[in-house]
Amino acid sequence: MPQVENPQLGRSHDYPYEPREEERDYHWGMVVNTNRCINCNTCSFACKSTWTSGKGEEYMWWMNVETEPYGGYPMGWDMRLLDDLDSGQTIYEAAESGEQVRGYIADKEEWEYPALGDDQVHGEYPTGEVVESDLDEGEYHDIWQFYLPRLCNHCKNPACLAACPRQAIYKREEDGIVLLDQERCRGYRRCVKGCPYHKPMYNPETGVSEKPVGCYPRIEEGFVPRCVSSCIGKTRLHGNINRGPDAPSPGGDAPGGRSPINYLVHSDEKVALPLYPQFGTRPQVFYMPPYHVPPEFLTQMFTPNTDEKRNDWPGDTYRESIEIVQERVRNPSHHVLGILQLFGATTKLIETYEVTDERVRGWDRNGEKVADLPFEEELEVREGEQWTNQP
Ligand code: SF4
Ligand code: SF4
Repeated sequence: MPQVENPQLGRSHDYPYEPREEERDYHWGMVVNTNRCINCNTCSFACKSTWTSGKGEEYMWWMNVETEPYGGYPMGWDMRLLDDLDSGQTIYEAAESGEQVRGYIADKEEWEYPALGDDQVHGEYPTGEVVESDLDEGEYHDIWQFYLPRLCNHCKNPACLAACPRQAIYKREEDGIVLLDQERCRGYRRCVKGCPYHKPMYNPETGVSEKPVGCYPRIEEGFVPRCVSSCIGKTRLHGNINRGPDAPSPGGDAPGGRSPINYLVHSDEKVALPLYPQFGTRPQVFYMPPYHVPPEFLTQMFTPNTDEKRNDWPGDTYRESIEIVQERVRNPSHHVLGILQLFGATTKLIETYEVTDERVRGWDRNGEKVADLPFEEELEVREGEQWTNQP
Protein backbone atom coordinates (compact mmCIF):
# COMPACT_ATOMS: atom_id res chain seq x y z
CA MET A 1 0.00 0.00 0.00
CA PRO A 2 1.28 3.55 -0.68
CA GLN A 3 2.45 5.66 2.25
CA VAL A 4 1.21 9.13 3.15
CA GLU A 5 2.83 11.68 5.46
CA ASN A 6 0.67 12.53 8.43
CA PRO A 7 1.94 15.62 10.29
CA GLN A 8 -0.74 15.20 12.96
CA LEU A 9 0.97 11.92 13.90
CA GLY A 10 4.50 12.99 12.94
CA ARG A 11 5.01 9.91 10.76
CA SER A 12 3.91 8.26 7.54
CA HIS A 13 1.48 5.37 7.28
CA ASP A 14 -0.47 3.21 4.83
CA TYR A 15 -3.18 4.79 2.69
CA PRO A 16 -4.76 3.16 -0.39
CA TYR A 17 -4.03 6.10 -2.72
CA GLU A 18 -0.82 7.89 -3.65
CA PRO A 19 -0.28 11.15 -1.75
CA ARG A 20 -0.65 14.43 -3.61
CA GLU A 21 2.61 16.09 -4.56
CA GLU A 22 1.50 19.52 -3.36
CA GLU A 23 -1.01 20.85 -0.91
CA ARG A 24 -3.93 22.81 -2.40
CA ASP A 25 -3.81 26.60 -2.03
CA TYR A 26 -7.26 26.40 -0.57
CA HIS A 27 -8.66 23.78 1.80
CA TRP A 28 -11.93 23.81 3.80
CA GLY A 29 -11.27 23.98 7.54
CA MET A 30 -12.97 24.89 10.79
CA VAL A 31 -12.08 25.76 14.38
CA VAL A 32 -14.59 25.16 17.19
CA ASN A 33 -14.14 26.73 20.63
CA THR A 34 -15.72 24.10 22.88
CA ASN A 35 -15.66 26.52 25.82
CA ARG A 36 -18.38 28.60 24.19
CA CYS A 37 -20.79 25.82 23.20
CA ILE A 38 -24.09 25.71 25.11
CA ASN A 39 -25.60 22.59 23.47
CA CYS A 40 -28.51 24.53 21.98
CA ASN A 41 -28.22 22.43 18.79
CA THR A 42 -29.12 25.39 16.56
CA CYS A 43 -26.23 24.21 14.38
CA SER A 44 -27.66 20.69 14.21
CA PHE A 45 -31.11 21.92 13.16
CA ALA A 46 -29.69 24.44 10.69
CA CYS A 47 -27.83 21.57 9.02
CA LYS A 48 -30.73 19.15 9.15
CA SER A 49 -33.29 21.59 7.77
CA THR A 50 -30.89 22.49 4.95
CA TRP A 51 -29.62 19.07 3.93
CA THR A 52 -31.34 16.03 5.48
CA SER A 53 -35.06 16.66 5.77
CA GLY A 54 -36.15 14.14 3.13
CA LYS A 55 -37.47 10.58 3.21
CA GLY A 56 -35.04 8.02 4.61
CA GLU A 57 -32.98 10.82 6.20
CA GLU A 58 -34.88 10.90 9.50
CA TYR A 59 -31.94 9.67 11.61
CA MET A 60 -29.27 11.53 9.63
CA TRP A 61 -27.67 14.20 11.77
CA TRP A 62 -24.69 15.33 9.72
CA MET A 63 -24.12 17.89 12.47
CA ASN A 64 -24.75 16.81 16.06
CA VAL A 65 -23.62 17.91 19.51
CA GLU A 66 -22.53 15.36 22.12
CA THR A 67 -22.01 15.79 25.84
CA GLU A 68 -18.64 14.39 26.82
CA PRO A 69 -17.75 12.01 28.37
CA TYR A 70 -20.95 9.97 28.00
CA GLY A 71 -22.69 11.18 24.85
CA GLY A 72 -22.16 9.65 21.43
CA TYR A 73 -24.05 9.33 18.16
CA PRO A 74 -24.07 6.54 17.19
CA MET A 75 -23.77 5.25 20.73
CA GLY A 76 -20.18 4.71 21.89
CA TRP A 77 -18.76 5.31 18.39
CA ASP A 78 -15.35 6.48 19.58
CA MET A 79 -14.65 4.02 22.38
CA ARG A 80 -15.62 1.04 20.29
CA LEU A 81 -13.17 1.88 17.52
CA LEU A 82 -10.36 2.83 19.91
CA ASP A 83 -10.79 -0.58 21.55
CA ASP A 84 -10.31 -2.26 18.16
CA LEU A 85 -7.00 -0.48 17.41
CA ASP A 86 -3.69 -1.54 18.86
CA SER A 87 -1.73 1.31 20.43
CA GLY A 88 -0.45 3.71 17.77
CA GLN A 89 -2.23 1.97 14.88
CA THR A 90 -4.24 3.97 12.36
CA ILE A 91 -7.47 2.58 10.92
CA TYR A 92 -5.56 1.88 7.67
CA GLU A 93 -2.84 -0.14 9.40
CA ALA A 94 -5.47 -2.09 11.36
CA ALA A 95 -7.56 -2.98 8.27
CA GLU A 96 -8.68 -6.58 8.13
CA SER A 97 -7.72 -8.80 5.22
CA GLY A 98 -9.45 -7.75 1.98
CA GLU A 99 -10.44 -4.34 3.37
CA GLN A 100 -8.80 -0.92 3.13
CA VAL A 101 -9.98 0.47 6.45
CA ARG A 102 -10.79 -0.83 9.93
CA GLY A 103 -14.31 0.17 10.94
CA TYR A 104 -17.74 -1.12 11.84
CA ILE A 105 -21.38 -0.49 10.98
CA ALA A 106 -23.37 0.69 13.97
CA ASP A 107 -26.58 -1.22 14.75
CA LYS A 108 -29.98 0.36 14.24
CA GLU A 109 -30.47 0.82 18.00
CA GLU A 110 -27.19 2.72 18.23
CA TRP A 111 -28.61 5.36 15.90
CA GLU A 112 -31.90 5.76 17.75
CA TYR A 113 -30.86 8.11 20.57
CA PRO A 114 -29.04 11.19 19.23
CA ALA A 115 -29.33 12.95 22.61
CA LEU A 116 -28.27 10.02 24.81
CA GLY A 117 -25.97 11.19 27.62
CA ASP A 118 -26.94 14.85 27.15
CA ASP A 119 -25.85 16.93 30.13
CA GLN A 120 -24.71 13.87 32.08
CA VAL A 121 -21.61 14.75 34.10
CA HIS A 122 -18.52 12.78 35.01
CA GLY A 123 -18.12 12.14 38.73
CA GLU A 124 -20.41 12.00 41.72
CA TYR A 125 -22.28 15.04 42.95
CA PRO A 126 -20.68 16.05 46.27
CA THR A 127 -22.67 16.25 49.44
CA GLY A 128 -21.73 18.64 52.18
CA GLU A 129 -18.63 20.66 51.48
CA VAL A 130 -18.17 22.82 48.43
CA VAL A 131 -15.56 21.40 46.05
CA GLU A 132 -13.00 23.91 44.86
CA SER A 133 -10.83 23.60 41.78
CA ASP A 134 -7.57 25.46 41.25
CA LEU A 135 -6.50 25.26 37.62
CA ASP A 136 -3.32 27.27 38.33
CA GLU A 137 -2.26 24.39 40.58
CA GLY A 138 -3.49 21.71 38.18
CA GLU A 139 -6.42 20.79 40.44
CA TYR A 140 -9.56 19.93 38.52
CA HIS A 141 -13.07 19.19 39.71
CA ASP A 142 -13.98 15.52 39.60
CA ILE A 143 -17.33 16.67 38.23
CA TRP A 144 -17.20 17.90 34.68
CA GLN A 145 -18.73 17.63 31.24
CA PHE A 146 -18.42 19.57 28.01
CA TYR A 147 -20.18 19.85 24.67
CA LEU A 148 -18.57 18.53 21.52
CA PRO A 149 -20.09 19.65 18.20
CA ARG A 150 -19.40 16.90 15.63
CA LEU A 151 -19.42 17.10 11.86
CA CYS A 152 -17.62 15.73 8.82
CA ASN A 153 -13.96 16.72 8.98
CA HIS A 154 -13.35 16.81 5.21
CA CYS A 155 -10.23 14.85 6.05
CA LYS A 156 -6.99 15.10 4.08
CA ASN A 157 -6.73 11.27 4.09
CA PRO A 158 -10.45 10.46 4.04
CA ALA A 159 -11.42 6.97 5.15
CA CYS A 160 -14.80 7.14 3.41
CA LEU A 161 -13.01 7.71 0.09
CA ALA A 162 -10.43 5.00 0.81
CA ALA A 163 -13.11 2.45 1.65
CA CYS A 164 -15.36 2.94 -1.41
CA PRO A 165 -14.86 0.18 -4.01
CA ARG A 166 -16.85 2.18 -6.61
CA GLN A 167 -14.71 5.32 -6.30
CA ALA A 168 -17.97 7.18 -5.77
CA ILE A 169 -16.37 9.46 -3.17
CA TYR A 170 -13.97 12.17 -4.25
CA LYS A 171 -12.12 15.14 -2.81
CA ARG A 172 -12.72 18.36 -4.72
CA GLU A 173 -9.68 19.98 -6.29
CA GLU A 174 -10.80 23.51 -5.51
CA ASP A 175 -11.45 23.27 -1.77
CA GLY A 176 -10.81 19.74 -0.49
CA ILE A 177 -14.50 19.15 0.30
CA VAL A 178 -15.21 15.40 0.24
CA LEU A 179 -18.35 14.53 -1.73
CA LEU A 180 -20.26 11.35 -2.56
CA ASP A 181 -21.54 10.84 -6.10
CA GLN A 182 -24.93 9.20 -5.60
CA GLU A 183 -25.10 8.19 -9.27
CA ARG A 184 -22.02 5.98 -8.82
CA CYS A 185 -22.94 4.69 -5.35
CA ARG A 186 -24.43 1.19 -5.18
CA GLY A 187 -25.20 1.25 -1.45
CA TYR A 188 -22.41 -1.14 -0.37
CA ARG A 189 -22.02 0.98 2.80
CA ARG A 190 -18.23 0.68 2.90
CA CYS A 191 -18.03 4.42 3.64
CA VAL A 192 -20.58 4.04 6.43
CA LYS A 193 -18.36 1.35 7.91
CA GLY A 194 -15.03 3.04 7.18
CA CYS A 195 -15.51 6.61 8.44
CA PRO A 196 -14.30 6.57 12.03
CA TYR A 197 -16.48 9.63 12.74
CA HIS A 198 -19.63 7.89 11.40
CA LYS A 199 -20.71 10.72 9.15
CA PRO A 200 -21.65 8.93 5.89
CA MET A 201 -25.10 7.36 6.37
CA TYR A 202 -27.23 4.96 4.35
CA ASN A 203 -30.62 5.99 3.02
CA PRO A 204 -32.95 2.95 2.98
CA GLU A 205 -35.46 4.80 0.78
CA THR A 206 -33.03 5.46 -2.07
CA GLY A 207 -30.74 2.47 -1.49
CA VAL A 208 -27.60 4.63 -1.66
CA SER A 209 -25.41 6.35 0.94
CA GLU A 210 -25.16 10.05 1.66
CA LYS A 211 -22.51 12.12 3.36
CA PRO A 212 -22.09 15.71 4.59
CA VAL A 213 -21.32 18.20 1.84
CA GLY A 214 -19.49 20.96 3.75
CA CYS A 215 -22.21 23.41 2.61
CA TYR A 216 -20.32 23.62 -0.70
CA PRO A 217 -22.87 25.86 -2.49
CA ARG A 218 -22.37 28.45 0.26
CA ILE A 219 -18.58 28.06 0.19
CA GLU A 220 -18.59 28.68 -3.57
CA GLU A 221 -20.42 31.97 -2.98
CA GLY A 222 -17.98 33.04 -0.24
CA PHE A 223 -20.24 32.26 2.72
CA VAL A 224 -19.55 30.08 5.77
CA PRO A 225 -21.51 26.83 6.35
CA ARG A 226 -24.94 26.98 7.98
CA CYS A 227 -23.72 25.44 11.26
CA VAL A 228 -21.19 28.30 11.53
CA SER A 229 -23.47 31.21 10.63
CA SER A 230 -26.31 29.98 12.88
CA CYS A 231 -24.19 29.27 15.96
CA ILE A 232 -25.68 31.02 18.99
CA GLY A 233 -22.50 30.75 21.03
CA LYS A 234 -20.18 32.10 18.29
CA THR A 235 -18.16 28.94 18.78
CA ARG A 236 -16.86 28.60 15.26
CA LEU A 237 -14.62 30.10 12.64
CA HIS A 238 -14.48 28.67 9.15
CA GLY A 239 -11.96 29.32 6.40
CA ASN A 240 -8.91 28.29 4.43
CA ILE A 241 -6.78 26.03 6.61
CA ASN A 242 -4.01 25.93 3.99
CA ARG A 243 -3.38 29.71 3.89
CA GLY A 244 0.01 29.97 5.58
CA PRO A 245 2.29 32.86 6.57
CA ASP A 246 3.75 33.33 3.06
CA ALA A 247 0.46 33.57 1.16
CA PRO A 248 -0.03 36.77 -0.88
CA SER A 249 -2.79 39.31 -0.32
CA PRO A 250 -6.10 38.17 -1.83
CA GLY A 251 -6.50 41.70 -3.26
CA GLY A 252 -7.53 45.24 -2.35
CA ASP A 253 -6.10 46.51 0.93
CA ALA A 254 -6.20 43.02 2.48
CA PRO A 255 -2.96 41.90 4.10
CA GLY A 256 -1.16 38.77 2.93
CA GLY A 257 -0.25 35.98 5.31
CA ARG A 258 -2.13 33.40 7.30
CA SER A 259 -5.85 32.87 7.53
CA PRO A 260 -7.13 33.22 11.10
CA ILE A 261 -7.84 29.48 11.40
CA ASN A 262 -4.38 28.63 10.10
CA TYR A 263 -2.95 30.77 12.92
CA LEU A 264 -5.03 28.99 15.56
CA VAL A 265 -4.05 25.54 14.26
CA HIS A 266 -0.59 25.80 12.73
CA SER A 267 1.24 28.75 14.32
CA ASP A 268 3.66 28.51 17.24
CA GLU A 269 0.74 29.59 19.36
CA LYS A 270 -1.37 26.54 18.51
CA VAL A 271 -4.69 26.56 20.39
CA ALA A 272 -6.84 24.14 18.37
CA LEU A 273 -6.41 20.38 17.96
CA PRO A 274 -7.95 17.64 15.77
CA LEU A 275 -10.42 15.08 17.12
CA TYR A 276 -8.91 11.59 17.47
CA PRO A 277 -5.95 12.18 15.13
CA GLN A 278 -4.81 8.63 15.95
CA PHE A 279 -7.40 7.31 13.48
CA GLY A 280 -5.10 8.63 10.73
CA THR A 281 -7.55 10.51 8.49
CA ARG A 282 -6.05 14.03 9.07
CA PRO A 283 -9.37 15.63 10.06
CA GLN A 284 -9.71 19.35 9.27
CA VAL A 285 -12.07 20.40 12.05
CA PHE A 286 -10.02 21.56 15.04
CA TYR A 287 -11.18 22.09 18.62
CA MET A 288 -10.08 24.59 21.24
CA PRO A 289 -10.24 22.20 24.19
CA PRO A 290 -12.22 22.90 27.36
CA TYR A 291 -9.87 24.22 30.01
CA HIS A 292 -11.84 22.90 33.00
CA VAL A 293 -11.54 19.24 31.97
CA PRO A 294 -8.73 17.00 33.31
CA PRO A 295 -5.93 16.66 30.71
CA GLU A 296 -5.97 12.82 30.84
CA PHE A 297 -9.32 12.73 29.08
CA LEU A 298 -8.36 15.36 26.53
CA THR A 299 -5.06 13.63 25.76
CA GLN A 300 -7.01 10.61 24.60
CA MET A 301 -9.48 12.69 22.59
CA PHE A 302 -7.34 15.38 20.96
CA THR A 303 -3.84 13.88 20.56
CA PRO A 304 -2.34 10.73 18.97
CA ASN A 305 -2.07 9.49 22.59
CA THR A 306 1.07 7.40 22.14
CA ASP A 307 3.96 7.13 24.62
CA GLU A 308 6.40 8.61 22.15
CA LYS A 309 5.55 12.12 20.97
CA ARG A 310 6.39 12.44 17.29
CA ASN A 311 4.65 15.55 15.98
CA ASP A 312 5.65 19.20 16.38
CA TRP A 313 3.09 20.16 18.98
CA PRO A 314 4.35 21.98 22.11
CA GLY A 315 5.65 20.02 25.11
CA ASP A 316 7.66 16.82 25.46
CA THR A 317 4.62 14.56 25.79
CA TYR A 318 1.09 14.67 24.45
CA ARG A 319 -0.20 15.27 27.95
CA GLU A 320 2.05 18.34 28.15
CA SER A 321 0.76 19.49 24.76
CA ILE A 322 -2.78 19.42 26.09
CA GLU A 323 -1.85 21.29 29.26
CA ILE A 324 -0.07 24.01 27.27
CA VAL A 325 -2.95 24.40 24.84
CA GLN A 326 -5.51 24.45 27.67
CA GLU A 327 -3.57 27.24 29.36
CA ARG A 328 -3.38 29.22 26.09
CA VAL A 329 -7.14 28.87 25.72
CA ARG A 330 -7.77 29.86 29.34
CA ASN A 331 -5.50 32.92 29.15
CA PRO A 332 -5.46 33.88 25.46
CA SER A 333 -2.84 36.26 24.10
CA HIS A 334 -3.95 39.57 22.60
CA HIS A 335 -3.59 38.05 19.12
CA VAL A 336 -5.72 34.98 19.88
CA LEU A 337 -8.27 37.16 21.64
CA GLY A 338 -8.45 39.27 18.49
CA ILE A 339 -9.13 36.23 16.32
CA LEU A 340 -11.77 35.07 18.80
CA GLN A 341 -13.64 38.32 18.04
CA LEU A 342 -13.97 37.12 14.44
CA PHE A 343 -15.88 33.99 15.50
CA GLY A 344 -19.49 34.54 14.46
CA ALA A 345 -18.76 38.13 13.40
CA THR A 346 -19.86 37.71 9.78
CA THR A 347 -21.51 35.16 7.49
CA LYS A 348 -18.74 35.79 4.93
CA LEU A 349 -15.68 33.59 4.73
CA ILE A 350 -12.65 35.35 6.26
CA GLU A 351 -9.51 34.71 4.21
CA THR A 352 -7.02 37.11 5.85
CA TYR A 353 -7.08 39.28 8.94
CA GLU A 354 -5.26 41.88 10.99
CA VAL A 355 -5.10 42.35 14.76
CA THR A 356 -4.07 45.77 16.11
CA ASP A 357 -4.03 47.13 19.66
CA GLU A 358 -7.61 48.34 19.38
CA ARG A 359 -9.30 46.47 16.55
CA VAL A 360 -9.49 43.28 14.53
CA ARG A 361 -10.34 43.19 10.82
CA GLY A 362 -11.09 40.46 8.30
CA TRP A 363 -11.10 40.31 4.48
CA ASP A 364 -12.72 37.77 2.15
CA ARG A 365 -11.21 35.87 -0.80
CA ASN A 366 -11.73 38.87 -3.08
CA GLY A 367 -9.94 41.24 -0.75
CA GLU A 368 -13.14 42.91 0.47
CA LYS A 369 -13.31 43.88 4.11
CA VAL A 370 -16.03 41.80 5.81
CA ALA A 371 -15.34 42.40 9.53
CA ASP A 372 -14.03 45.38 11.50
CA LEU A 373 -14.49 45.11 15.24
CA PRO A 374 -13.20 46.82 18.38
CA PHE A 375 -11.61 44.72 21.10
CA GLU A 376 -14.01 46.28 23.53
CA GLU A 377 -17.48 47.54 22.69
CA GLU A 378 -18.03 51.12 23.76
CA LEU A 379 -20.32 51.43 26.76
CA GLU A 380 -23.01 54.02 26.44
CA VAL A 381 -25.00 55.11 29.50
CA ARG A 382 -28.24 56.82 28.55
CA GLU A 383 -29.17 60.06 30.24
CA GLY A 384 -32.50 60.46 31.97
CA GLU A 385 -34.89 58.37 33.96
CA GLN A 386 -33.86 54.80 34.76
CA TRP A 387 -36.78 52.44 34.31
CA THR A 388 -37.31 48.74 34.67
CA ASN A 389 -40.09 46.22 34.25
CA GLN A 390 -39.67 45.22 37.89
CA PRO A 391 -42.08 46.79 40.40
S1 SF4 B 1 -15.05 12.65 8.56
FE1 SF4 B 1 -15.58 10.67 7.64
S2 SF4 B 1 -17.01 11.22 5.99
FE2 SF4 B 1 -15.89 13.09 6.51
S3 SF4 B 1 -14.14 13.13 5.08
FE3 SF4 B 1 -13.43 12.17 7.02
S4 SF4 B 1 -13.68 9.98 6.65
FE4 SF4 B 1 -14.93 11.01 5.08
S1 SF4 C 1 -25.24 26.36 17.68
FE1 SF4 C 1 -23.19 26.75 18.56
S2 SF4 C 1 -23.57 26.93 20.76
FE2 SF4 C 1 -25.39 25.93 19.88
S3 SF4 C 1 -24.91 23.74 20.05
FE3 SF4 C 1 -24.20 24.36 18.02
S4 SF4 C 1 -22.01 24.81 18.33
FE4 SF4 C 1 -22.97 24.80 20.36
